[in-house]
Amino acid sequence: MLDSTLQDTYDHVLRRNPGEPEFHQAVREVFESLEVIQNRHPEYQDHSILMRLSEPERQIIFRVPWVDDKGVVQVNRGFRVEYNSALGPYKGGLRFHPSVNLGIVKFLGFEQIFKNSLTGLPIGGGKGGSDFDPRGRSDGEVMRFCQSFMTELHRHMGEYTDVPAGDIGVGAREIGYLFGTYKRLTNRYEAGVLTGKGLDWGGSLVRKEATGYGAAIFAAEMLEARDASFEGRRVGVSGSGNVAIYAIEKARQLGGLPVTASDSSGYVVDEKGIDLELLQQIKEVERGRIAEYAERRGDSARFVAGGSVWDVPMDIALPSATQNELDADSARTLVKNGVLAVSEGANMPCTPDAVTVFREAGIAFGPGKAANAGGVATSALEMQQNASRDAWSFAHTEERLTQIMKNIHATCLETAEEVGRPGDYVVGANVAGFRKVADAMIAFGVI
Ligand code: NDP
Repeated sequence: MLDSTLQDTYDHVLRRNPGEPEFHQAVREVFESLEVIQNRHPEYQDHSILMRLSEPERQIIFRVPWVDDKGVVQVNRGFRVEYNSALGPYKGGLRFHPSVNLGIVKFLGFEQIFKNSLTGLPIGGGKGGSDFDPRGRSDGEVMRFCQSFMTELHRHMGEYTDVPAGDIGVGAREIGYLFGTYKRLTNRYEAGVLTGKGLDWGGSLVRKEATGYGAAIFAAEMLEARDASFEGRRVGVSGSGNVAIYAIEKARQLGGLPVTASDSSGYVVDEKGIDLELLQQIKEVERGRIAEYAERRGDSARFVAGGSVWDVPMDIALPSATQNELDADSARTLVKNGVLAVSEGANMPCTPDAVTVFREAGIAFGPGKAANAGGVATSALEMQQNASRDAWSFAHTEERLTQIMKNIHATCLETAEEVGRPGDYVVGANVAGFRKVADAMIAFGVI
């Protein structure tokens, strides 16, 4: 239950944004967390901050026509939601997946505002994408799609305006095609306009690894706060994309044994620990399916078609695939199997009911907007390097990332304590992320 003012604002959001359940879910979670500061800060209400925050500053929807390998014209829909620029240029990834619609982009953009605020770096919140499915498409098809997508999007971008990056379905290949098209259309080598670039043309070391590394580091911080660690622990990871692969790598570096990976067809369990090189070969090089991992790995690994990766016993869970992939039943199974910490590598992978299960069981739970903020933080470091025409070493950049994740963890913990919800990282992340944005919006007046 929300208090009456928050409920009125939430009802208003529901009325104005029908048929967007993921967006409603993200807004509700933030509103619930803000109840603890409602009475202490009448100025937020006086300035209608929540009403203004829930409404994106700008929403762009556009047609993306392109020609497939058979010469047939295809049409997709492109989106960019420029959500909030109180703290800096809009910043957030592009997602290419058939499930993308306006509600999904708004949920991701809304989350991004608070996540970016938590990093302590000068970046606003935005998100974009398309219902284009890159799976099974040739390089030529992906290139023509990206060129068409950027032909429209470029007029809305700029290093001081809006700086996209990758997300599901958008990796180094897509960023290359997008940046090449931007460069040609604008006749400017404006490196800071996109992040996740290749290392030879303005990219940052550690960007590729940053989200997964960050989620594991956040888990390690939560464990340390409870006098525990990764050492000798079984780690369960879902997904086998950018975030999952590097969450697995960092979990192993921290002394854990990552035993699972998955994709939309099922999951693998490897009792000897996931062989990272083999996983990368199949997923990053060959763009294959996760079942091939079990076929090539030998006896220690098995593939389970469909099913839930959360049935596998594990001490630490790093959900790193997609939204709402871990429900209350899965959460109960994890708790029954003795899970100690859950750190969200993906955005909103745990349903609200699953989060309730973790809370009630006293499990350390790191919400995505804190736990996976390492990706966007390192994107901001990429922008810093671009602005100074510099390229930092891996060690230096990783050190910056580690420090940022530790700071985010400490901020969440301290804020939760301050508002009377000790140990509640959800409340800590939402309140700390919100306050900076709200205060900046008040400073700017009603614009
Ligand atoms: P990738 O496209 O690299 O990988 C996504 C992985 O998740 C794939 O293994 C994919 O399997 C699986 N997956 C996607 N959709 C579904 C689904 N509906 N059901 C089951 N499995 C699914 O994406 P990323 O690793 O970049 O992103 C993963 C998550 O992390 C997303 O929630 C994203 O928003 C979030 N995130 C990413 C950041 C980044 O820097 N990349 C930053 C912060 C958050 P399949 O190939 O079968 O679809």
